[in-house]
Amino acid sequence: MALMFNGIGVSKGIGIGEVHLLHRNQVDVTERQITKKQIASECRRLRRAIKNTKKKLLDASDNIPVDAPEDVSAFIETHILMLDDGLLTQTPIDIIKTEQINAEAALQQQREALGKVFDSMDDQYLATRIDDVNHVIDAVLQELVTHDKVEEPSDWKGQIVVAKDLTPADTVSMQHHGVVGFITETGGQLSHTAILARSLGIPAIVGVHNIRQYVKNGETLTLDGSSGMVLAEPSSTMLSDLDKRRKSLKKQQRKLNALIDTPAITKDGIELSLSANIEIEEDLKAVKRVNANGVGLYRTEFLFLNRDTVPTEKEHFKVYKKVLRALKGAPLTIRTADLGSDKLLSTSASTANDSALGQNPAMGLRGIRLSLNEPTVFLPQLRAILRASSFGPVRMLLPMLTSINEVLQVKSMIETIKTGMREENIEFDEAMPIGGMIEVPAAAIAAAQFAEVLDFLSIGTNDLIQYSLAIDRLDDQVDYLYDPLHPAVLQLIKHTIDAGAEADIPVTLCGEMGGDSRFVRLLLGLGLSNFSMQPNSLLEVKESLISSRRAGIKKSAMALLKTSDKDEQQRLLKRINKH
Ligand code: PEP
Ligand code: MG
Repeated sequence: MALMFNGIGVSKGIGIGEVHLLHRNQVDVTERQITKKQIASECRRLRRAIKNTKKKLLDASDNIPVDAPEDVSAFIETHILMLDDGLLTQTPIDIIKTEQINAEAALQQQREALGKVFDSMDDQYLATRIDDVNHVIDAVLQELVTHDKVEEPSDWKGQIVVAKDLTPADTVSMQHHGVVGFITETGGQLSHTAILARSLGIPAIVGVHNIRQYVKNGETLTLDGSSGMVLAEPSSTMLSDLDKRRKSLKKQQRKLNALIDTPAITKDGIELSLSANIEIEEDLKAVKRVNANGVGLYRTEFLFLNRDTVPTEKEHFKVYKKVLRALKGAPLTIRTADLGSDKLLSTSASTANDSALGQNPAMGLRGIRLSLNEPTVFLPQLRAILRASSFGPVRMLLPMLTSINEVLQVKSMIETIKTGMREENIEFDEAMPIGGMIEVPAAAIAAAQFAEVLDFLSIGTNDLIQYSLAIDRLDDQVDYLYDPLHPAVLQLIKHTIDAGAEADIPVTLCGEMGGDSRFVRLLLGLGLSNFSMQPNSLLEVKESLISSRRAGIKKSAMALLKTSDKDEQQRLLKRINKH
């Protein structure tokens, strides 16, 4: 019988494929039924994990310093002996076979059984040896997870990956491997994993609580990335309905392709700039496919992920130059690393990760704060961006600005770098524009002051909404509060657009709202002409904007700034979006 689940649809499209449960990043002991066919491979996983754990302990034992206390080697020897004991090796294998459950759950079951035995021991000393048992079991569990971490995504073809959560790096590695879609138990629509799924065109749903307990590897699953509906073991009628919808979405896309070369001008003659958000070089294919007006936001955090060292100036430079070459003269806005919060460094060579892991990372050392705090991470990037500026139209964008002082500090660093580069005869664009993300409410309110010291502004609605409505963008429990129509959000956006116009500097909007065809006409009505978005949305946005007139929308857009009434908001939005 079909099972239905609901989550938050974050990336449009229909996915039909086999379940691939992914267990990584945490030791997950959730019990999952496995099929008869999977018993042998699950037993192999456990045996391999035990073997690897033992090998590590033997290595550790060989490397114990001669002057180390006797206890140390006794401790390790005990653990090695335990790994030879059938109670920890054979019994969990028997449990996998008889109960048809995963290795982690079988080990956990045996841990609980042994815990009871130790608890009932009268001998205090022996009773405390359960700590050793736990230690050894934890090490084996960790090994099971570690092995899954290096699982090659090549066997994901045609599958729907189901995971507790996925890092942005996981999502990127899926793109080349024919993954049909993914479902996570946690995460909001503004998480980077969700943003990436949209930009890679992978149908995705987040926030499907506990789904891993109900689906099995290999069974058929469908997902509808628009409605957020997941079906496990769907009937043939359900499958054929979904297939019809998939075909109609494809037809819609083909229709939009006719707009690729159409100029981006509204019916009342307003020239628009529709540029692309990119994160990785591969995104450039989509930028070209939709004929975007260059890159309005290059998120450079990906250069820092999945590596043990901080990228050097040379590495940054090489990538930027390559991107510029691919853009063939179209503008490239490079945002300096917005690390911290949901975009953590995976490098152990920097203290930046520790600093970014504050009590409340979204409000901690993130973005420009982290960069100013870590010059060894920041300076090579600044220099590389400047060097790249001699190879094409580069703009530098600073994330997470809160105070003018941050801009002044960066500008002073840039001046020092420029002086050095002049002395070294290194070419750069003397007039390279420096802009700032307006994504913290304080910066939006003080947009006029920022406009005095910056060459352009870029509104980041993802964070602006997170911070002004106090909703963690990664937390699916508060995702229902995500409300781009909240008058506070709209007023902050309008205030920023006006501040840019007053100072005669360009204002772009590069948050997800600017790629959402439900809201772009409203933004046009509020005075916005520059939109940057993930390339897959660009043609839909273009279709909506070029068929509209700002003059006809303005009144309703201004009325939306002032109303909190949900019905009235929907009525006004409908009027704005009416053809
Ligand atoms: C934003 O906050 O809207 C934005 C574009 O930046 P990011 O999503 O990378 O935080
Ligand atoms: Mg942001």
